[in-house]
Amino acid sequence: MATILSEESLTQAKEYVDRVYKTVIARNPHESEFHQAVKEIFESLIPVLAKEPHYIKHNILERIVEPERFITFRVPWVDDNGNVQVNRGFRVQYNSALGPYKGGLRFHPSVNASIIKFLGFEQIFKNALTGQPIGGGKGGSDFDPKGKSENEIMRFTQSFMTELYKYVGPDVDVPAGDIGVGAREIGYMYGQYKRIRGSIEAGVLTGKGIGYGGSLGRKEATGYGLIYFVEEMLKSKGLGFKDATVVVSGSGNVSIYAMEKAQQLGARVVACSDSNGYVYDPQGINLETVKRIKEVERKRIREYVKEHPHATYTEGCEGIWSIPCDIALPCATQNEISEASARLLVANGVKAVGEGANMPSTLEAIDVFLKNGVLFGPAKAANAGGVAVSALEMSQNSMRLSWSFEEVDAKLHQIMKNIYQSSVKAAEEYGYPGNLLVGANIAGFKRVADAMIAQGVV
Ligand code: NDP
Repeated sequence: MATILSEESLTQAKEYVDRVYKTVIARNPHESEFHQAVKEIFESLIPVLAKEPHYIKHNILERIVEPERFITFRVPWVDDNGNVQVNRGFRVQYNSALGPYKGGLRFHPSVNASIIKFLGFEQIFKNALTGQPIGGGKGGSDFDPKGKSENEIMRFTQSFMTELYKYVGPDVDVPAGDIGVGAREIGYMYGQYKRIRGSIEAGVLTGKGIGYGGSLGRKEATGYGLIYFVEEMLKSKGLGFKDATVVVSGSGNVSIYAMEKAQQLGARVVACSDSNGYVYDPQGINLETVKRIKEVERKRIREYVKEHPHATYTEGCEGIWSIPCDIALPCATQNEISEASARLLVANGVKAVGEGANMPSTLEAIDVFLKNGVLFGPAKAANAGGVAVSALEMSQNSMRLSWSFEEVDAKLHQIMKNIYQSSVKAAEEYGYPGNLLVGANIAGFKRVADAMIAQGVV
């Protein structure tokens, strides 16, 4: 039941949010992605701060927005020509109120403090939404894996872990993959950690290979989880994936398994992309081809049209959103849907947008979706399946047991349904019915904020 909030309490909450946001800008200058993530979350918390002003009294926002720890380090390594290269490594240990820090590692040349902090900040609320005992963290490096040999990748990741090992551990901080970090890189990091520590601590990393402590279903989890979440959104309007036309950006881990599950549910997935361009296949994307090109051969998506000549390839990423579709699933990277692309999607009749990537829609794009009645699944709810199954991998490692794929998938499905329900409920309770962005932020925030307050001034 929604409560009517007084003007006075709303004004007080807005002033508080404004004041803390200004502090964030002053303390973290030039970090535009971080500012964007903070703004999105803070603004949606105004109703909860107005209704429950004790959060203001505890100055919870200023505490929650300041990482518990932010680590940067040198990563020296030797390339195949014998030259010494130096990259920068990062780990933000953002919030441990609910459990060990948990969040992926990203290897991409665009990685900097702003990107790591935006991802880490979002991760706190995402992890809380899953209902599992995990805090929020994130990390990575400005290392560019593209064009590197197998040996270079291994030497770099080993050097990265040679420093990172000091800060992580199964009960402290548990990294996983993200852009540029998949099972191969996790394997090299796990091997290096084990050599340094001299003991088996399987729960130190998730996304490991199945043969040495990985969980069945982890590889599929983010993509499948996204589809389970969007399915719930669609059901609320009597819709479904069957016969729907779907556009999915990216062709990495999240994208591939989102396409797979959408196809299993009867959707026609007509386009996907990589950081160079996109393919449009009106007959439906052939996933076997995409998997081979991207997962095995590690080549560019443009190779697809050589085998499927009826499909077309277009240079540049953003044009993918000009393809008419019922459901759009951005699964590549941050800010990939601009306001103009959002308008185009709406003009072409999009019914639902589910964010597989982190912060793929700009604030202006989100506004366009919400104002036009598009069902909108925000990243921290819709893509939480990956971290949820990572937490299940941690549980299996602690118990020294392995669950079957079906068991893990069933748990994932239930977690995604729960996240959807708690987002819907919080949105309704705080006066924004149907707004899953507000609902997810509030539901995640309350869990973390209440735990922090219960633990004293931390
Ligand atoms: P991958 O590295 O497996 O794939 C990323 C895909 O996005 C690739 O197709 C890549 O193209 C493309 N891409 C990367 N950077 C850009 C860019 N700047 N512009 C356009 N396209 C780009 O990463 P994931 O699939 O793991 O991650 C994708 C997104 O999902 C990220 O936002 C990540 O944070 C988020 N996420 C991932 C989770 C996971 O479990 N893996 C969990 C939750 C969120 P190319 O092949 O050319 O590099």
